[in-house]
Amino acid sequence: MRIPYSYLPQQFLDCNDIWLKIREVVMRGDFTLGKELPEFERAFADYIQVPHAIGVASGTDAIFLPLKALGITGEVITPPFSFYATTASIVNAGAKPVFADVGANFNIDPKAIEDVITPQTEAIVPVHWGGWPCDMDAIYSLAQKHGLAVIEDAAQATGSKWDGRSCGAWGTAGAFSLHPLKLVNIWGDGGVITCHDSLLAEKLKRLRNHGMKDRDTVIEWGYNSRLDTIQAIVAHHMLKKADSIISKRRELARTLDAALDGVAEIEWLVPLQQEFSNYYLYTFHAQRRNELLSYLISKEIDAKVHYPVPLHLQPAAKEWGYQRGDFPMAEKCAGDTITLPLHEFISSDDVFYMADTLREFYKGT
Ligand SMILES: *Cc1c(COP(=O)(O)O)cnc(C)c1O
Repeated sequence: MRIPYSYLPQQFLDCNDIWLKIREVVMRGDFTLGKELPEFERAFADYIQVPHAIGVASGTDAIFLPLKALGITGEVITPPFSFYATTASIVNAGAKPVFADVGANFNIDPKAIEDVITPQTEAIVPVHWGGWPCDMDAIYSLAQKHGLAVIEDAAQATGSKWDGRSCGAWGTAGAFSLHPLKLVNIWGDGGVITCHDSLLAEKLKRLRNHGMKDRDTVIEWGYNSRLDTIQAIVAHHMLKKADSIISKRRELARTLDAALDGVAEIEWLVPLQQEFSNYYLYTFHAQRRNELLSYLISKEIDAKVHYPVPLHLQPAAKEWGYQRGDFPMAEKCAGDTITLPLHEFISSDDVFYMADTLREFYKGT
């Protein structure tokens, strides 16, 4: 039995409606900012329950452009345990990332945020790691108290919720990725920004399209960061499937949780009442992680490590002067987490095979 991490070949077996719509766009020649883009944006905004959604060229730009639009150039608090794009977007916007450690659930710890707020702090960029929602009540009230913007990195958290409200609907802006390996995925790169404020939405639409107000007027120097019309069609198709994908993943996660019950060497996440995860990643803490990883791979289970080196210890972070030991939990996570393949094309037999293999490893070796 082989359990693959990537399910892309299966995912688009049935996509005739996409081909038909793409054909229409090709015949019209309407490749940029075609009508299918605002149609998708309306559907995405409704899905997250915010007034505005803006399609952009990547999830990375979906973090970068709101920081630019808000003119943030001071300190921005963000976790040291995330994908690289979170910190890179802050740097590229001209601001200074300041790390605050995560908790055992991989998400930024609100208490650690409070410890590093200074008069220079302008924003918080929390990451809903693996689709697990951050404590948005705590983060929101800190932001209110100190007058900070919040850009939620919800790249992995489409459809996740904190206390009934979607990730990406809490902050000044929310950033989503449509990368092929994300939950709502397209045939290349793309992203979506969500926000509440109409002026901010207008500015973001301008910035993604060269800062143009109309064909002949540039209000401010902008970027080329549009979501292609063709990709908006694919995104809209996938968005319609999001809820059924999420319930399948949640069901499999519950099955896997139960099948792993009693394995003392691992520690997985148990949701609080407010936490509704899309289970984008099924990640947990595991003793002897590296050996376990090789063992699983030898048994054809495509497990992964997200990610073995925390951001503050990357060569690119050298200039900020962080040391090993500065963020103990992020370092622990980098050393002991492992992600099992869990997605809508996994069967319950696969789940039991993974659980049995894991038990075998801890029992037998
Ligand atoms: C994927 C990802 C991004 C970047 O999204 P892209 O669409 O690949 O640019 C940012 N943050 C996190 C947490 C991600 O997982």
